[in-house]
Amino acid sequence: MLTSPPADHTIAQAIAHDELRLFYQPIVRATDGAVVAVEALVRWQHPTLGLLTPDRFLHKADRDGQLPLLDRWVLHRACQDLADLGPAAPDHVNVNLSAPTLATDFTEPVTTALERTGLAAHRLRLELSECADLNTLTHAEKHLKGLVERGVGVALDDMGTGSTDLRCLSRLAVHGIKIDKEFVSGMLTNPRDHAIVKLLTEMAHGLRLHVTAEGVETAEQLAALTRLGVCYVQGYHLAPPLTLAELTSTILTA
Ligand code: C2E
Ligand code: MG
Ligand code: MG
Ligand code: MG
Repeated sequence: MLTSPPADHTIAQAIAHDELRLFYQPIVRATDGAVVAVEALVRWQHPTLGLLTPDRFLHKADRDGQLPLLDRWVLHRACQDLADLGPAAPDHVNVNLSAPTLATDFTEPVTTALERTGLAAHRLRLELSECADLNTLTHAEKHLKGLVERGVGVALDDMGTGSTDLRCLSRLAVHGIKIDKEFVSGMLTNPRDHAIVKLLTEMAHGLRLHVTAEGVETAEQLAALTRLGVCYVQGYHLAPPLTLAELTSTILTA
């Protein structure tokens, strides 16, 4: 059975003990295989439980009110890592912002991360999943506008799975969508999933947004997505989440 970290072991302590790690999963241009971006994905190198994926600790971090703290740490580390990579680096790093962070004044941690690391604003993209309520949406809309004016990019994550996806798309200054892996995994066997991927792609293009498909696990899925005009792909078929060292050695020198 999977064990979660003990109740008294919090994200704040994990940060203090330097136990958080960032993995980077390449986002690839479908036409030529170029790595155009990486998505930062957090892990917890726990002293007794080993390397934990987010499903093992995000719920508790949420209950503890520590997701904004986690997001601040990730923002800083991801910007630092991309800035340190130098000329071989991909153009962009995508950082996930949690819903509770969207209800805070997140302009501050984002601009602080950019200023302290010297990363150009246009190289950072924020991935948002949906905003739960209208108040948060109105708040996020205001803060995102300022960041977008500075050049920061925004993508709507897990597109198709949220009840307020379209409202977020209508209101927020979004540059792209990420089609959820649920639809990608079903698209070759379930005609409805295929139709949903097609529709989301057409809608995004109609709105002049970039489209990334998540969870691409096979060459057949990649071919089907390419036929539908999906430009960017991410998934185990292309590359799994990698350590920074793996990213530099296997992808950037390829
Ligand atoms: P997400 O942002 O939608 O990230 C994509 C997830 O899909 C990642 O899971 C990734 O490892 C996984 N994945 C990538 N390729 C494939 C594939 O081909 N097949 C399948 N089945 N899965 C694939 P991960 O790293 O476990 O993260 C899960 C979720 O946790 C993320 O979903 C995101 O919502 C959240 N998360 C991860 N890192 C962070 C972070 O630094 N901050 C915040 N706030 N949330 C994070
Ligand atoms: Mg994401
Ligand atoms: Mg996603
Ligand atoms: Mg997700």
